[in-house]
Amino acid sequence: MTDHAARPVRTVGMLGGGQLGRMMALAGARLGLRCVVLCPDPDSPAFEVAAGHIVAPYEDEAALADLADRVDVVTYEFENVPAATAAFLAARLPVRPGPRSLEVSQDRLAEKTFLAGLGIPTAPFRAVDTLADLQNGLAELGYPAVLKTRRFGYDGKGQAKIGTPGDVVAAFEAMKGAPAILEGWVPFSREISVLTARGLDGRLVTYDVPENEHRQHILKFSRVPSGLAPETEAQARRIGEAVATALEHVGVLAVELFLVETAEGERLVANEIAPRVHNSGHWTESACLVSQFEAHMRAVAGLPLAAPVRHSDVEMENLIGDDARDPERYLGEAGASLHLYGKTEIRPGRKMGHVNRIRPRPRPIG
Ligand code: AMP
Repeated sequence: MTDHAARPVRTVGMLGGGQLGRMMALAGARLGLRCVVLCPDPDSPAFEVAAGHIVAPYEDEAALADLADRVDVVTYEFENVPAATAAFLAARLPVRPGPRSLEVSQDRLAEKTFLAGLGIPTAPFRAVDTLADLQNGLAELGYPAVLKTRRFGYDGKGQAKIGTPGDVVAAFEAMKGAPAILEGWVPFSREISVLTARGLDGRLVTYDVPENEHRQHILKFSRVPSGLAPETEAQARRIGEAVATALEHVGVLAVELFLVETAEGERLVANEIAPRVHNSGHWTESACLVSQFEAHMRAVAGLPLAAPVRHSDVEMENLIGDDARDPERYLGEAGASLHLYGKTEIRPGRKMGHVNRIRPRPRPIG
């Protein structure tokens, strides 16, 4: 698509209209970039803040052609963009990040194979299509282990922990016939993530590494600084940058990592790649001069990236379900910044907004 690449970008097409799309559209607007959001849900949070929107399924070629006519480049806020949708658009205009980022992150087996190919440690894994594959895999990897669907899993959905041989059949049945991956159990003590932006020119920018705390499989807090040993943090950065470079990614990506403490010291194990802005980077909105959302929009628009200067220490708290019932209570809190996603209906487990609590640093990091 290099013939299209020189066109100055003024308008960005966005596949997906959730909170991530909303925050990217807001960040883009500050740079003079107009967003047109395509999403099948007529109540999409991103529609309210975008210059234009299209309500249509991702497979609707007339709607995709309409989007392509209205924008200079297309990006997305979720990794499950159908391959045919990305290909249809890529024949007409640049799609950033490109197809490799989607291919690898849509399938846990492709993802782990890719990571292992880069020499990045992962949980030991085996492909599972049949009950016999699962039994053979368990004989090799041992107990406990985790069985996951290869595709469409998130927030712990499509996963079953296998603690004993008695759990095997139920775990296999929980996959409902979908291709799966068996992973050895990683005895991690903490979860962290690395957020890297890669520009059209290949330049890499990596944010400070947050520690992430989950409740019921959903991210609840991200905290920076994370207190990792400097060498561990440096290794996390190298992982994010190696992944972004190998994928020729353009935009922000996140790699979720487990921290394992061994007698020899801290060890990192990569779990998952998100080829997009990520919930564990929402703190950058308040603690950095240039947020992950702006970094992503800059990259996809072919604009220069900035050093990820962090002026504050920060804790991001996700407002999930009822946490968002009385949001005014966060407004008077010193050092707190509330961001609501404009969702009208509160549902258990639904991400409604977040609060960033900052403590300014005497000397910014960056
Ligand atoms: P995932 O959907 O792969 O991000 O996994 C969701 C959560 O399940 C992770 O954040 C971990 O807490 C846990 N988990 C996933 N895979 C493993 C594993 N191989 N070993 C231990 N815990 C895991």
